[in-house]
Amino acid sequence: MRYSQMFLPTVREVPSDAEVISHQLMIRAGMIRKLTSGIYSVLPLGYRTVKKVEEIIRQEMDAAGAQEVYLPAVQPAELWQESGRWSFYGKELLRFKDRHMRECCLGPTHEEVITDLVRNEVKTYRQLPRNLYQIQTKFRDEVRPRFGVMRCREFDMKDAYSFDADEKGADLSYEKMFKAYTRIFSRIGLTFRPVEADSGNIGGAYSHEFMVLADTGEDALAFCSGCHYAANLEKAEIAKPGKVDPDPAQFKPLESIHTPDVRTIEEVSAFLGVTPQDIVKTLVFAADGKPVAVLIRGDEEVNEAKLRNYLGADSVELATDDIVLEVTNSPKGFAGAIGIKADVYADYSLMNRINVVMGANREDYHVKNANLGRDFTVKAFADLRIIKESDSCPRCGKPVRFARGIEVGHVFKLGTKYSKAMKATFLDRDGKEKFMIMGCYGIGVGRTVAAAIEQQHDDQGILWPMTIAPFHVMVVPVNVNDAKIAAAGETLYRELEEAGVEVLLDDRDERAGVKFNDADLIGIPVRVTIGPKSLAAGNVEMRIRRTGETRTIPVGEAATVIRDIVMGELKALNDPNNGHPR
Ligand code: ATP
Ligand code: MG
Repeated sequence: MRYSQMFLPTVREVPSDAEVISHQLMIRAGMIRKLTSGIYSVLPLGYRTVKKVEEIIRQEMDAAGAQEVYLPAVQPAELWQESGRWSFYGKELLRFKDRHMRECCLGPTHEEVITDLVRNEVKTYRQLPRNLYQIQTKFRDEVRPRFGVMRCREFDMKDAYSFDADEKGADLSYEKMFKAYTRIFSRIGLTFRPVEADSGNIGGAYSHEFMVLADTGEDALAFCSGCHYAANLEKAEIAKPGKVDPDPAQFKPLESIHTPDVRTIEEVSAFLGVTPQDIVKTLVFAADGKPVAVLIRGDEEVNEAKLRNYLGADSVELATDDIVLEVTNSPKGFAGAIGIKADVYADYSLMNRINVVMGANREDYHVKNANLGRDFTVKAFADLRIIKESDSCPRCGKPVRFARGIEVGHVFKLGTKYSKAMKATFLDRDGKEKFMIMGCYGIGVGRTVAAAIEQQHDDQGILWPMTIAPFHVMVVPVNVNDAKIAAAGETLYRELEEAGVEVLLDDRDERAGVKFNDADLIGIPVRVTIGPKSLAAGNVEMRIRRTGETRTIPVGEAATVIRDIVMGELKALNDPNNGHPR
């Protein structure tokens, strides 16, 4: 491609509305332009990368046995009413009426459409398993579209849906997608982690999010420094400590202490001269409206997602003042486990603790030397707190580290949520009618491109991995008015293209500095400069964008040497053994 002919409007200035670097660079490198809030046009340079990402996705999905389809973007309300999501989905779902006043929506995801398709066609176990995918436009009316194509309203998603006859098959389908995703993001050249994710309200199912590690990521994750364990911070488990039966001989007598207006952990610890670890915090929640008390060490925080999952509740929220008064007989700040009128659960952080301080369930009073068994009971100990960086890995015991990530993909075992709601059944081997077991698997194409930039850039611009670079090589004749230089540029351009290398020839009549800045900004992995001095000596200068390494190569060898570098990098990234989170 010739730069002079390309629709490639680069800009120097950082756009004022772009908060994150990937958004800034995608605008500056002429990859995207905003149409209106959360809606973007993709320009030729950007679209080259998008198509490469899509092609890698297609290859790996096909290799995993999934088949490509193309489903409608406009979906009838009836299907969403059947699944129950018409009322549940909220304002993110863009709804409208057609000329016959029939209610429709623009698909934010396609569980309903695919389940409808498959239930109409699949009748027996012999037609299962099936995995269908598409790469198609989704519309989600996000409350706060931001960060360019990272969180926009209209975007391309690869979404796949698997249908199986039994749990074993469904687990296998999931595993195949998990592996395909690992291959996809490895081939794209990203540093990522598949992390265990909270499966939200869909009980029983499990899911992994594929996170590209980047400091600017919206998600927080915990990963082990020793093994492969990684989880969303919401979900990250904490190992159960060994239980030692306390010796009641060590229990000190329970004391009630007047603590006027002393409510918070800090106030109690200052007033009594104890550390927050010595104090038990008692928090009252409403789980689906029912009061539940959680005991946790004073310096720890309750993880509401864990509590919700543990209780199997649809919603968990801190109880209102009225409920606290009802179950503790006192205003907030003095809750404790002794005599509380609610089921009590204790976090693992309290296991083996004796002689603790807690609220007395009486206004302006706390107790000292409270002991489990003697003074109060709990229904169970459970993992209910938010993990901290000093915690040890629940799998191998090594220290856990925190990182930030961008969720680029999500694999989800749905189970029978949609097949039950929409009656997607089949006749099993024994002639019995059963619900299909489903999985769904998404990748945000634009978000993946943005995440790659977020992770791989420097002060000058983008550092594309070879597999998704819009071009492999940029040939820069420094002065196109010099016939020899221009001719050498044309020859190298032709030779490289013939060798199967994608080249952008900067044939613009611009100063060398301008060309170099644009080359760095758009981030083509290899730049070849043809300048008067080196050409007179029979050479060209090659520069690797990522490392800054330069090499002088004789003109006659340039095409071969450069082709080998490009092909070598492509091969390394596409290698079948390159399928591990890095
Ligand atoms: P998030 O929590 O970031 O909103 P999600 O859980 O809603 O994501 P999914 O429904 O699992 O996302 O969609 C699958 C993939 O689609 C995501 O992993 C992400 O890559 C992409 N995606 C989701 N929402 C957007 C968006 N608003 N803009 C761009 N890509 C998106
Ligand atoms: Mg979302």
